[in-house]
Amino acid sequence: MIPSLKAPGRRVLIGQIFQESHGFTPLKTQLPAFVIETGRALITANEHANSVLGGLIRTGRQENWTLIPSIAARASPGGRVTDYAYAFIKQHFMAVATQGGFDAIALCLHGCMQTESLDSAEADLLKSLRAVVGNTIPIVAGFDLHAHANGGMLAHLNFASAYKTNPHADAGQTGERVGIALNGIFDGGLQPAGCAASVPMLTGGNDETASGPLLKLHQMASARIAANPDLLDASIFNVNPFVDGKAAGQTALVYARTAEGLPAARELAKDLANGLWQARREFSHNLPTLESVLNSAAPGCVVVGDFGDRVLAGGPGDSVYVLAQARKLQPGKHVVAPVTDPEALRNCMAAGTGSTVQLKVGGSCTPHAESLSLTGTVKVTGTGNYRNRGAYMQGATLRIGPYAVLEGGGFILLITQEPLMSQDPGCFLDCGIDLGKADIIVAKSGYHFKISFGSYGVCICAATPGLTLYEPQAEHFRQARPLFPLDDFEFAAQVGDLPVFPAILNS
Ligand SMILES: [Zn+2]
Repeated sequence: MIPSLKAPGRRVLIGQIFQESHGFTPLKTQLPAFVIETGRALITANEHANSVLGGLIRTGRQENWTLIPSIAARASPGGRVTDYAYAFIKQHFMAVATQGGFDAIALCLHGCMQTESLDSAEADLLKSLRAVVGNTIPIVAGFDLHAHANGGMLAHLNFASAYKTNPHADAGQTGERVGIALNGIFDGGLQPAGCAASVPMLTGGNDETASGPLLKLHQMASARIAANPDLLDASIFNVNPFVDGKAAGQTALVYARTAEGLPAARELAKDLANGLWQARREFSHNLPTLESVLNSAAPGCVVVGDFGDRVLAGGPGDSVYVLAQARKLQPGKHVVAPVTDPEALRNCMAAGTGSTVQLKVGGSCTPHAESLSLTGTVKVTGTGNYRNRGAYMQGATLRIGPYAVLEGGGFILLITQEPLMSQDPGCFLDCGIDLGKADIIVAKSGYHFKISFGSYGVCICAATPGLTLYEPQAEHFRQARPLFPLDDFEFAAQVGDLPVFPAILNS
């Protein structure tokens, strides 16, 4: 029996670092791309958010924790983060952590952030935090299921859990789950003992969790946990497939409530890992062509997921392929689309609101991407953030940065300086764009837009060209080999135990 550690008003250091790195885009993610909150603003800006951070804050309130904010830093998926930006963010975490005066650290992490120098920024951060607080202060974290979990971060944590849904609707619940586990550690009822098995493979697009092979694996995990009181939680990390991380691949992570449950946890981790491998050929999907999506569109609006240029998978967002095709194939339709194009934006800003401009837009970054010549009126220019309306990251604030709205015959373009997360209608609405007129809305997203744009029209993904189509190329992956589907090899799951950190808390 573990002695009770319960005491009222536990003090918990909280923070967030959230960026998913695409290893094969030429762009780097700079410090200004991050929305940053510190101090009291970290709490007020995130307390209602459907994010791990929001879930942690709400659980903390219920459990009467005193929340000690460090830093929350969120940026769109994109290129590797500059060393300077990461050093700035890390320094805030470390400054608060080295002051001490807390009983635990609870973090919201994407888990797949790489920097110019680091394979896993989260592994570096957690290692540094563990070095400061020692082994007796619990550190827990919630992750996106596309985290690079083999990058070394799990070894520093008392407990970790990933979203269980893709599209991600359960980020807040994941934060609550992590918070409840931390409370179990405080109470003395839990001393999580984890184990993990990695699978050297990438999924190929058929990796939503409401159907297909992942549904079966998540159901197996839930059933096993429900039937065995020794088991606490299972996560299936599907890894962002555009990261060449060390040993990057799938990870099955299972926690038992205490070390006594480890045999059952190991068995579940092994079965999940072998299940992923056995289903490896079922994970690729066949997306419809853009032509078929545009031509078969039912009456009303269609929201097209621009799969090859998904900012949500780290793409640059500079493709105008959907707009160009729509103008050719459906010339009478009204299209609303985002595009990353710093030069076109500069031209709009120089011309000013109300001016008519002739511009080349698109193709500013992606190799071989086409551009379009357009004439339109600059309706508005500005800089700012937007509020997520839909289920994915509902309530969270995301950065737009400098932007211009260009309107012409049959189109409204939201032109941004930086890649814009456009999975949510909020990005258009908060720039003053009326979506009511749209026949075709373009979202630079493959999954999450479906749970946020449903009230605007039918949401369909199309196979479009760009850096985020699932066409893994051998030359991109140097760190993680062998790797399915690039290599042919035999595989049998090996499960390794994670370090257990016995919490010793002040009463
Ligand atoms: Zn994800």
